[in-house]
Amino acid sequence: MGAKKSILIYCSDTQNSIEVANTLRDKFEKEGYCVETDFAGDEREDSDLLDGTLSDRLKLIVCVGGDGTFLGAVHHFNFPDVPFLGVNTGHLGFFQEFMPDQLDLLIDNYKRKKYTLQDMQTVRAIVEHDGIKEEFTGLNEIVVKCEENYSVHLNISIGDKFIEKFSGDGILIATPAGSTAYNYSLGGSLVDPRLKLLQVTPIAPMNTTAYRSLTSPLLLPPDLGLGIVPDNGGSKGRIAIAYDSFSRTFDKLDSINVKLSDVEVRLLRFETYDFWAKVKSKFI
Ligand code: NAP
Ligand code: MN
Repeated sequence: MGAKKSILIYCSDTQNSIEVANTLRDKFEKEGYCVETDFAGDEREDSDLLDGTLSDRLKLIVCVGGDGTFLGAVHHFNFPDVPFLGVNTGHLGFFQEFMPDQLDLLIDNYKRKKYTLQDMQTVRAIVEHDGIKEEFTGLNEIVVKCEENYSVHLNISIGDKFIEKFSGDGILIATPAGSTAYNYSLGGSLVDPRLKLLQVTPIAPMNTTAYRSLTSPLLLPPDLGLGIVPDNGGSKGRIAIAYDSFSRTFDKLDSINVKLSDVEVRLLRFETYDFWAKVKSKFI
């Protein structure tokens, strides 16, 4: 028999989030649950949490904050097997299931197992530079763009077929979960999360007598990857790879291969959850 697993409450560093997190901890403890807290602003060493045995110790990670806090937690815990649950103290809260005035309802539903687990796909970029390969994973998206205020020129292939030389601000590759984020601001489609696909959305594609780029988003099936080879001769600036709220810049970059990843993030959704109702309540 293993030790009793605990619930970890991870929260953003706003006063409101910290108060909500503390209230939630007290309520869970009253119900007999073991609770740990982790405040995103703290410098605390989490190496004990990150040694690959997270799911042996934790049964749930509750994120108190906005979508940004949730994305931060997913990366902080390195895409764990442990399911997440969100409480929205942020602005939009697309991932966040409950509001701070619903904590009793949250605990009641959790105790009575009145929830389903939503498995969310992630997207992975393998970046080749200086003779090495590095991997970056996003729950929302991967973005390839110029760090400075220049256009980028990217040779794009799908599978092994060359499709186009893209010129413009960059390319965004969104998961279904990320379709409602940056992708949506770019005119990309909202994707029902039950679909398994990647959406490739151009960012400010150029169409002049000098450059020709596809202007609409493309949808790719799960087994097809996107290959990007920057035209280093034709590009002036440095290329940045963004993965959710994080990014890295490269002086010279040989190739980027983007595909759906095997890693999934699991989110608790309660009986009232419906993707299209959420779209209506958040966007319209
Ligand atoms: P942020 O700049 O605060 O995020 C911008 C907005 O996107 C926030 O309102 C955030 O919600 C919302 N958001 C994040 N993930 C979402 C999702 N899956 N569905 C719907 N809305 C979502 O930065 P952040 O909070 O750290 O989030 C990072 C994300 O911002 C990136 O992954 C990217 O998708 C997005 N972004 C959007 C734009 C744009 O729309 N022009 C530009 C850059 C980045 P909360 O208010 O609840 O945090
Ligand atoms: Mn945010």
